[in-house]
Amino acid sequence: MTGNERLMAAALDLITSRYRLARHQIGAALLDADGDIHVGLHLDAMVGRAAVCAEAVALGVARMATNAPIVLAAAVRHPKPDEIGPARLVPPCGLCRELLLDHAPGISVLVADAPGPRAVPLADLLPHKYIGTKWSA
Ligand SMILES: [Zn+2]
Repeated sequence: MTGNERLMAAALDLITSRYRLARHQIGAALLDADGDIHVGLHLDAMVGRAAVCAEAVALGVARMATNAPIVLAAAVRHPKPDEIGPARLVPPCGLCRELLLDHAPGISVLVADAPGPRAVPLADLLPHKYIGTKWSA
């Protein structure tokens, strides 16, 4: 199993086992430079903007475990009961693009493509990232 496949399998395994309608729909997995995988589960909320993405949870989990650079991300969305088709790879939302690039500037993400998923530098998906003054870029 390749690193990409391991990462997708970790995200898929998580959301397959923890899916709950309107509670947990996405599982994310982050690969660090040491080869370890850290997973996170999407947390939905009654107030939509209080929800927390799976990538953000996975990033927190990773940072609890290691300071190793995070190099690759994958997120898998579980279908709702009335949707047809399998769980699928999804790219990070805009907020997660900002957050992941703040904490992992060299990260790539797995995106769905033909004939199969491919890793894309996240910076390519957010070419004009916000740069604040909290820390040096
Ligand atoms: Zn997100």
